Amino acid sequence: MSPLDVPRTKSCVTPNALPSEADLQLLFARLNYEFFNGEVPGCKVRYNARFSNCAGRTTYGRESMQIELSPKHFRRYPEALTETLLHEMIHVWCYAKFRETGHGVRFKRKLRECGLTSIYHDLGNVSPSRESTKRFILRCERCTFEALRRSLPRTAASCPRCNKRRFDERYPLTIYEIVELREAGTTLDGARAARKGPAG
Ligand SMILES: [Zn+2]
Ligand SMILES: [Zn+2]
Repeated sequence: MSPLDVPRTKSCVTPNALPSEADLQLLFARLNYEFFNGEVPGCKVRYNARFSNCAGRTTYGRESMQIELSPKHFRRYPEALTETLLHEMIHVWCYAKFRETGHGVRFKRKLRECGLTSIYHDLGNVSPSRESTKRFILRCERCTFEALRRSLPRTAASCPRCNKRRFDERYPLTIYEIVELREAGTTLDGARAARKGPAG
């Protein structure tokens, strides 16, 4: 069955009104059942309001995978939400089953199985590989401070914002491995330019 035949959750994807995080979790469960035989491991699906150039992000933390979506992006493109979630779920599935990241052969095969090939060409915007030198996120769960790292830190780190002066075990940084970042811009260069702000 093509995802286009799947009855949309119209009731919760209305213009300017995003589905709640509980609805996202239900949508995740439904897609998991329909396309993966329930093989996608439990995932936290949530919004991250701090995303500006990123439509979605999939990370692997100590306890579980997490899919984060940009509320700003999906308020503008609500019709892309189901497909994007499905796309991110294929990443989770590939990672859980084969420890594979990126858009490799297995990813593309599963994408076709889900009937999504052409949709993603149209949506474009998938540019994880060129940013992939930074593979880890250190995140403070208290204040949501995040730092990107190329490699895992050798010693435990604490949040430099919550305690500027010294290591503080009350504010540990949690490590997430980036499985995918999905840029919202049409090209990575465009996204980079947007990050730097208007030229001149
Ligand atoms: Zn992807
Ligand atoms: Zn903090």
